[in-house]
Amino acid sequence: MDDTSPKAWRQATRLVRGGLRRTGFDETSEALFLTSGYVYASAAEAEESFDGRRERFVYSRFRNPTIATFEERLALIEGAPACRATASGMAAVHAALMCQVAAGDRVVASRALFGSCQYIIAELLPRFGVEVVFVDGPDLAQWRAALAPPTRAVFIETPANPTLEIIDVAAVAELAHAAGARLVVDNVFATPILQRPLELGADVVVYSATKHIDGQGRCLGGAILADEAFCNDVLGPYLRHTGPCLSPFNAWVLLKGLETLDLRVERHNANALAVARFLEGRAGIARVLHPGLESHPQHALAMRQMTAGGGIVAFELEGGRERAYRFLDALRLIDISNNLGDAKSLICHPATTTHQRLSTADKAAMGIGEGMVRLSVGLEDAADLIDDLDAALRA
Ligand SMILES: *Cc1c(COP(=O)(O)O)cnc(C)c1O
Repeated sequence: MDDTSPKAWRQATRLVRGGLRRTGFDETSEALFLTSGYVYASAAEAEESFDGRRERFVYSRFRNPTIATFEERLALIEGAPACRATASGMAAVHAALMCQVAAGDRVVASRALFGSCQYIIAELLPRFGVEVVFVDGPDLAQWRAALAPPTRAVFIETPANPTLEIIDVAAVAELAHAAGARLVVDNVFATPILQRPLELGADVVVYSATKHIDGQGRCLGGAILADEAFCNDVLGPYLRHTGPCLSPFNAWVLLKGLETLDLRVERHNANALAVARFLEGRAGIARVLHPGLESHPQHALAMRQMTAGGGIVAFELEGGRERAYRFLDALRLIDISNNLGDAKSLICHPATTTHQRLSTADKAAMGIGEGMVRLSVGLEDAADLIDDLDAALRA
């Protein structure tokens, strides 16, 4: 590797220039190839393109230059050998699991998961004869027991949505590998800026690019990162033939999002910590959860495997759902919305929105109470956010 190789670039350079290949028009910004197909000079060239003798773009369900630029840039940022983009984060989670499991396989997952990830693992996989086991993510004794029998895949989310529970990625990776399993990590809350699961021993990383990678509330997207063997031989055929492909237009929007990802994540993080510190100890708030707070039950582990706590704060209001609703409705600046990682601060009530479909018992097991709210702290001035929260708490 010479020092002009993108792999020698530092992170900020990778974010801005990774994967860039200019066309003959010498444009500054990445070209948008809004095309579904490609043409061949001859029938023989078409044949060679399909049987693999010729490497070229064939159809945008398989590959597209703008999507390839996004994949290459994200792979560089993650330090992953390969990346495949998908239409949404859920398409990424679904494909990352379905491409590798078959009837009779066993999958172990952490209990605290994004609602749709929980649906795929708890409801969809068992329909196809896959045995599914859930464990409390922070409890390594439970992981040890669950991973005693041979297992195909392990799925975790850390920090988890919305409880911000932290799982020891390196420890779970070791147990997963001993059981013959690949460890898949949903790294949405941390982003590649704050946490790099592959370096901690994970095999596959999945993203909802809808969140911080776009970060400006414009479009959906997802990505799967892993080694070449997994991406080409296990995942590749599954994606090619089932078609959850990203739109080239969305890939272009996400590319522009990546250029500022580190700057935005830094501000999200600083604002979230300021807001969390303001909320902590306020009357009427039972607890505040942010991995960067010393009071977080796994603060030390979080600081070991992440460079900062991230942009999401969860807190529990005394007085249950009625109080939580009154508080949300009294906010004037912060919007009520279930999205996250946006430039705008967004707040939601997980028990009745993102996690509504779970039973009361499951919510309780995950630590999602009726008074809990999840705040995705945006890029506004932290003082304005604190003023808004303060006024709403007094209302
Ligand atoms: C949003 C989210 C997803 C799903 O992503 P979409 O782009 O909405 O499909 C998956 N996991 C986590 C942790 C999320 O926050």
